[in-house]
Amino acid sequence: MLADYAVRDSRGRRYPEPSHPYRSDFQRDRDRVIHSRAFRRLEAKTQVFTRRYSDHFRNRLTHTIEVAQIARTIALQLRLNVDLVEALALVHDVGHPPFGHAGEKALDSAMREHGSFFDHNLHALRIVEDFEMRYPMFRGLNLTFEIREGIIKHSREYEADRYPELSEYLLDQRPPLESQLIDLADEIAYTTADLDDGYEAHLLSLEQILQGVPVFADFYREVDQTYPDAIEKLKFNEALRYVLDKLVTDLIEHTQNQISAHAVETLEDVRACPTRLVGVSSDVEQERCNLKQFLHKNLYFSEALDADKDDAERVVGELFKFWIEYPESLPSAYQKKAEREPLPRVVCDYIAGMTDNYIYEQHLKYCCERVK
Ligand code: MG
Repeated sequence: MLADYAVRDSRGRRYPEPSHPYRSDFQRDRDRVIHSRAFRRLEAKTQVFTRRYSDHFRNRLTHTIEVAQIARTIALQLRLNVDLVEALALVHDVGHPPFGHAGEKALDSAMREHGSFFDHNLHALRIVEDFEMRYPMFRGLNLTFEIREGIIKHSREYEADRYPELSEYLLDQRPPLESQLIDLADEIAYTTADLDDGYEAHLLSLEQILQGVPVFADFYREVDQTYPDAIEKLKFNEALRYVLDKLVTDLIEHTQNQISAHAVETLEDVRACPTRLVGVSSDVEQERCNLKQFLHKNLYFSEALDADKDDAERVVGELFKFWIEYPESLPSAYQKKAEREPLPRVVCDYIAGMTDNYIYEQHLKYCCERVK
């Protein structure tokens, strides 16, 4: 049932392994991701809202599961390799530090003071290649080439001359469609979910959304006419469902058109194509940008989240400084690592792996009690 442009077989693993009697290589990759520690930690990492708002809201794990659901739907319609897509979706956020984007920003600026930087895709690659310890035969999860390539390339391009260490990932070629669609499935998942959580958190009012997001307003009006007596939240849900469906359906149709327009028949054609093929039509592109801008202005950069973000940046920044100054307080495995790697990178890796809860505990232990 796979299209000719889908990924069929893997190029292989870093350490060759015999194939499994009844699970495909990509099914095994998916299962390895699910059984990893980094995947479990997603549960206690902020997506947008910290736990102080509500237990109902998305965290990075439930966001990841939503991305996998959307990505599988798209992959099936495009006759892509669903197992590969699911594994890529489940692994796509494992490189995120605690506290969402605020944590990422703080970690990046701490690293920049030491002449380096933090990038969550590169960090995710290090997790699956090195930090996860599950097998006696090798470090890491020994995932297939296609998963490692997708971790790096799903959301951005890395220039070959700036990242020579990534040269094995065919940086001059486009990633397979299975990987390209993750970025958009991710965006569809978080934009619709953030509208939902933002509304539930009373940070976004219905009026504000109706005014700022025309695609939502059109559907809401329709729903309101069909179910005038339904409670507002149920009408909201229904309109949001239509928005999600419109984005996904348009993405599937537009991508099919792009595949035909570029005369793409094989996986090699996908890789050689000068542009990415997964996308939405120009009409929906406008709505997509509009939705993102609305969320940036009214939610991600709203004053209501400032206190959480400041807190996150302070906790990450202070702990980073503390361990640079007192590396003897790091767990012994990290002290050993610091003999082989620069200390800032080791501290960065340690912090990036933490959950929100754990980093707060560490901050209390090392940065608050000492002040007293
Ligand atoms: Mg994501």
